[in-house]
Amino acid sequence: MAIDSIAALLSQTEESGLPLWEVILQEDLAEGQSTREDSLKQMTRLWEAMKESGDAYRPEERSRSGVSGGDSAKVQSAMESGRLYGGRFFQEVIAQALRISECNACMKRIVAAPTAGSCGVLPAVLLPLLRSGESEEEILHALYVAAGFGEVIATRASISGAEGGCQAEIGSASAMAAAALVQIRGGTPAMCAHACAMALSNLMGLVCDPVAGLVEVPCVHRNVVGAVNALSCADMALSGVECRIPADEVIDAMARVGTEMDDSLRETGEGGLAGTPTGKAIAERLAAEG
Ligand code: SF4
Repeated sequence: MAIDSIAALLSQTEESGLPLWEVILQEDLAEGQSTREDSLKQMTRLWEAMKESGDAYRPEERSRSGVSGGDSAKVQSAMESGRLYGGRFFQEVIAQALRISECNACMKRIVAAPTAGSCGVLPAVLLPLLRSGESEEEILHALYVAAGFGEVIATRASISGAEGGCQAEIGSASAMAAAALVQIRGGTPAMCAHACAMALSNLMGLVCDPVAGLVEVPCVHRNVVGAVNALSCADMALSGVECRIPADEVIDAMARVGTEMDDSLRETGEGGLAGTPTGKAIAERLAAEG
């Protein structure tokens, strides 16, 4: 049975006395498709692939459209010059989100988490943590929390830009990452839920408007927003700040907003940024180039 409620996950955690990630793992096993060993192996493989997803990045490389590439290298070099805001960790999150999303735009191997368009968000927050000494085991546990919360979002609402707008892609990835970050810092399951709810609330209504229908503009830069939003919401939750609307209700609201969104704002490449004069000119140029 699919996990369909964050409230249910929290009560199962309370009743069983098990950690949240373990409850999600047990739910995964209850679906009967794998053994505990298989599930852990599969999650480890996914994490290994995530770690490698930025390795093929080349600063000089551009996507086939010529629109994407090189931005992560710009941030990296500005970091070295010391003129950016935020601390080193925050800057690394931005550079990493760009790096992996640019790899996706250049057709390199990435992990859809939950989608290819939002592939930079989770690794953007997890890889800098690994580099700063976080244990692989803690990160694996956090990935279970992210996966469990992502499954609830997919079940109650959507993780597809074509169905629910970018709130369903970058918003969901951000919510999953926020919950994962709280888990890593030892926050309670309720704090994970608040972080998830706040992250999704903050991106509620975000439309899907890819220029020329390509997962490049605004997708690459929105991965940064998803990652930074996740950090802010995790920090708020860890400080005891609570989302005033329960997570399941936020997800249901996101589903309704997605349904109410005009078709032009759901991955058709017509509305929003895709409909600007420059967005249209890029689309026309690419169409002329065949
Ligand atoms: S704008 Fe659309 S295609 Fe791009 S990341 Fe968001 S949902 Fe995906």
